[in-house]
Amino acid sequence: MKILLDNGHGITTKGKRSPDGRLLEYQYARRVANAIVAALTAQGYDACAIVPENADIALGERANRVNAVCDTYGASNVMLVSIHCNAAGSGATWMNARGWEAWTSKGQTQGDRLADCLYDAASKCLPKDIPVRTDLSDGDRDKEESFTILTRTRCAACLTENLFQDNRADVDYLLSPEGFETIVRLHVEGIKNYVAKYGKK
Ligand SMILES: [Zn+2]
Repeated sequence: MKILLDNGHGITTKGKRSPDGRLLEYQYARRVANAIVAALTAQGYDACAIVPENADIALGERANRVNAVCDTYGASNVMLVSIHCNAAGSGATWMNARGWEAWTSKGQTQGDRLADCLYDAASKCLPKDIPVRTDLSDGDRDKEESFTILTRTRCAACLTENLFQDNRADVDYLLSPEGFETIVRLHVEGIKNYVAKYGKK
């Protein structure tokens, strides 16, 4: 199984930061994605980041990179997780919403199975005061939207929103060594569970 990590946005993306500027989404997503790749690689998994650049690579190009890997390995042997941080407002002020959630494309696809594995890991790894946010209206926990990175890619794909960059408590947690390590670990565990269920290492 080829494991692909996408890190949202780029150094030139406007906004997408905590109101106090301590957390920059493009930078945090890259730190998390790189740490996930390193942890999985150290355990013998085949993982890589599809956007090694700091630039904001266009979504169509990101999807093309993923689909080129699908061409080589077969889409059923590829999985993609796109790493983001959430925001409740414009980024100008601190807001109240907190927690972790994951998104898939609409309808039931292999991405929903990947999201299930990530939700299981998030519920297990995150401290109890950080909510795991769900949408149960369609019978599963993930939220669904036609994001390009989910709909234009042919493999199992899931986008994670790793807490709110405009919630002060979430940002404190994300920037703490324990918080960073937990965000990484929940992805590593979720991905490993998915590979164990649906693929070859
Ligand atoms: Zn984002």
